[in-house]
Amino acid sequence: MQPQVVILGAGFAGHTAALHLSSRLRGKANIHVVAPGNRFTWFPSLIWVGTGTMSPEECRFDLAPVYEHLGVSYHNGRAAEIHPDSNTVMIHDQAGAAQAVDYDYCINATGPYLNFEGTPGLGPRAGTTLSVCTIEHATQTRDEYLDVVRALKSGMRRRLVIGIGHPAATCEGAAFEYLMNVDADLRRRGVRDRAELVWLSNEPEPGDFGVDGIEARKRGVVATGASLVRMLVDERDIKTFMAAGVTRVDPGKAHFEQAGSDPSSIEFDFAMFIPQFRGIPLKYIAADGRDISKEMTQPNGFMSVDADYSAKSYEQYKAADWPATYQSPKYRNLYAAGIAFAPPHPLSKGKKSPNGVAIQATVPRTGMASGIMGKTVALNIVDAIEGRQPSHHARMSEIPAACIASMGNSFWHGSAASIIMMPVARDFERYPHYGRDLNLCELDVGLAGAWTKRALHTAFMWKMHGHAGWQLIPE
Ligand SMILES: Cc1cc2nc3c(=O)[nH]c(=O)nc-3n(C[C@H](O)[C@H](O)[C@H](O)COP(=O)(O)OP(=O)(O)OC[C@H]3O[C@@H](n4cnc5c(N)ncnc54)[C@H](O)[C@@H]3O)c2cc1C
Repeated sequence: MQPQVVILGAGFAGHTAALHLSSRLRGKANIHVVAPGNRFTWFPSLIWVGTGTMSPEECRFDLAPVYEHLGVSYHNGRAAEIHPDSNTVMIHDQAGAAQAVDYDYCINATGPYLNFEGTPGLGPRAGTTLSVCTIEHATQTRDEYLDVVRALKSGMRRRLVIGIGHPAATCEGAAFEYLMNVDADLRRRGVRDRAELVWLSNEPEPGDFGVDGIEARKRGVVATGASLVRMLVDERDIKTFMAAGVTRVDPGKAHFEQAGSDPSSIEFDFAMFIPQFRGIPLKYIAADGRDISKEMTQPNGFMSVDADYSAKSYEQYKAADWPATYQSPKYRNLYAAGIAFAPPHPLSKGKKSPNGVAIQATVPRTGMASGIMGKTVALNIVDAIEGRQPSHHARMSEIPAACIASMGNSFWHGSAASIIMMPVARDFERYPHYGRDLNLCELDVGLAGAWTKRALHTAFMWKMHGHAGWQLIPE
């Protein structure tokens, strides 16, 4: 019988793993993907769906035909339990029927659970704030945003608050991109002067983005993300609340704690807040039927892997804390890649409000990092199946991140910040001054970035379809 590889999740990490496994192991292993909803979503373009400058259809495609073409068995369902002693995953199909799938290797790439409940009153279901974290959310956000535009056109004034909806959330970059696109779109429509734009974020300072900030050497001078973001918000007349954590939302009003200030609140006509991310509520069950989920995960619900989870202060963080192979320390044939793995600690410095609320930007596992992790895990599984010693590793303290942050989706009037950092998690032993190799870091703003961002959309949709030559497009 051929080895069975089961991938839970068909996002950036899971789908990338499926592409690499199928290209290397076709005919030598059975590859299964379990994911609900039969669809891949290209999340980076949802910020454009949320302003109505891209259609939802352009950001998604059906997975079943792609997996048929790749020779991968696709199960349209959700993983509910992992039984790591018996190497079995229990999945529930769309109708709720349970099925057991056995594995020799399993990759948990289930991404985030959007924890709107973590902030009382937050989110589209509560009917208070909007989100761009799924296609449905971004589409609803677009509709409400266009209502705001109509009101502005009729001469009314509106306050739009955009940012982070929990003191310990991540994904600040996506929220900031949405803010910049709203600003650009309102200007394009000639109604920006009647809109008040507010940026509210848990980052300790502007431009932190949950990665402890960004620097790049420009003509011998070190430019910082902090100065760039300050300039961007100042020249666009955007009010900011930094080191601020939303603790509760009432209709039209967000309450927040802020480092160095008394608790406060802000009224809004339109609010888009990214919720806290937690691990998908998967259960881990031992051979004797015991629920061992707490032993297999960290308190945030993400799966523990080969990281150093001992409690450390910001000053004690080390490059070696970060996982290399993303294997469960207890079950070596079980991996977690992308957002599903538990980071050992944040990258940014946390702050506290006077009431003692910890305001902590948590670590983004962006699309590029998630793709690299998915590929790394896949290549180690290929090695193991083909009888070689697995040799691939991808610590966040050794991999780069490239991000093109859109600031307007227009061929002639668009703009974007192009950001490269190497590595993502600072390594002060290797790079004593900044913890990063500033010769490889990049920070630039301009129209060229807007073109690159649009080109990346097309290139990555091509790659994710598994079309000819997809291997030439890097993660
Ligand atoms: C609005 C927005 C904009 C962004 N912009 C950028 C950007 O410009 N650049 C960038 O690099 N990153 C960006 N990101 C981040 C990027 O989308 C994530 O880093 C990436 O999606 C993480 O990949 P993942 O595979 O871990 O999770 P996901 O891509 O979320 O995939 C998770 C998969 O698991 C499936 N799943 C969920 N539950 C189960 C279950 N129980 N069983 C089986 N499968 C399950 C899901 O259906 C999905 O297929 C953005 C994110 C958002 C929300």
